[in-house]
Amino acid sequence: MKVFFLLFAFSIFLWEFLAKSPDQFLHITVCDVGQGDAILLSLGYSQVLIDTGPDESVLSCLNKHMPFLDKKIDVLVLTHFDDDHIGGFDQLTQVYAINYLFLPLNTYKDSESFLKLKERIISIEKLGTIVKEPFLGQQIAFSEFSPSHQAKYNSTESSLLLSFLTPSDLDLEEYLALERAKSFLWQKSEDELSAEELQNMGIKTSDNDGSIGIFAQFGELKLLLLGDLETTREVALIESGLITKVDIQKIGHHGSKTSSSSEFLLRSRPEISLISCGLNNQFGHPNAEVLSNLQSIGSQVLRTDKMGTIEVLSDGQKFWLKNEKQNLF
Ligand SMILES: [Zn+2]
Repeated sequence: MKVFFLLFAFSIFLWEFLAKSPDQFLHITVCDVGQGDAILLSLGYSQVLIDTGPDESVLSCLNKHMPFLDKKIDVLVLTHFDDDHIGGFDQLTQVYAINYLFLPLNTYKDSESFLKLKERIISIEKLGTIVKEPFLGQQIAFSEFSPSHQAKYNSTESSLLLSFLTPSDLDLEEYLALERAKSFLWQKSEDELSAEELQNMGIKTSDNDGSIGIFAQFGELKLLLLGDLETTREVALIESGLITKVDIQKIGHHGSKTSSSSEFLLRSRPEISLISCGLNNQFGHPNAEVLSNLQSIGSQVLRTDKMGTIEVLSDGQKFWLKNEKQNLF
């Protein structure tokens, strides 16, 4: 009986190990977290997570899509401080260690969840997490060095390169506000400052338009991730000459009409549009006009409210869908 149990436990261990061993592909996983965002980019044992969804639902997604026994996320980006993007942070950081945390430090939010987030960031910073505000054009490269992978691809093709697109219009005033914001974030005594006083210091209220945007490249694959970025910032990105045609785009703000202007879509022209939104959500996301704009540029729309968690794989040249409810196409 004991032997049988041990064999049974070992076979489960082996199954988990084999099922969750990394391959040579880039996995883009849009977690089904209801109304919110949590997007995992996974290459070998390197992971980038963009936002944490509204609650602990991010954990079941990571449990399925992180390599077996890997409890470390290399880079976590919080695009902005709305609850549907930071709500899972506390539970996430109880289970996973975070190497680098990028967030818009020069903004604050007058909400209980933001104060809780701040407390938690202070704790994980003590445990070794490096907390940073990204700057425009800052890049992070990841390479997978497994022998099978190296034999197949040269080193430039096999690396995942992330470039931060925001803030796209950081000026001296904002830079100084950022410096002040850093002390605000780390010094608890400044909690007592009122929203008005913070604004006088040049620290902005967190809003969708302050979302951190990311351009990711893996071989020839181009991917755009826009948080809840809205039209005015989209225009700034176009004017900065930063937007070119991409293969895949995480559509801004869950498909809201405040994002994805036709001018922007005509520039980015994604073949695949990923929309993360809750089933029958109260905001009516995704907006019908946005869907029709996407249709008019011939983009294939994949929605978490209809498909659950969406997983796209790429070898750096081609990309394909591996969905829990659908097979490869
Ligand atoms: Zn959102």
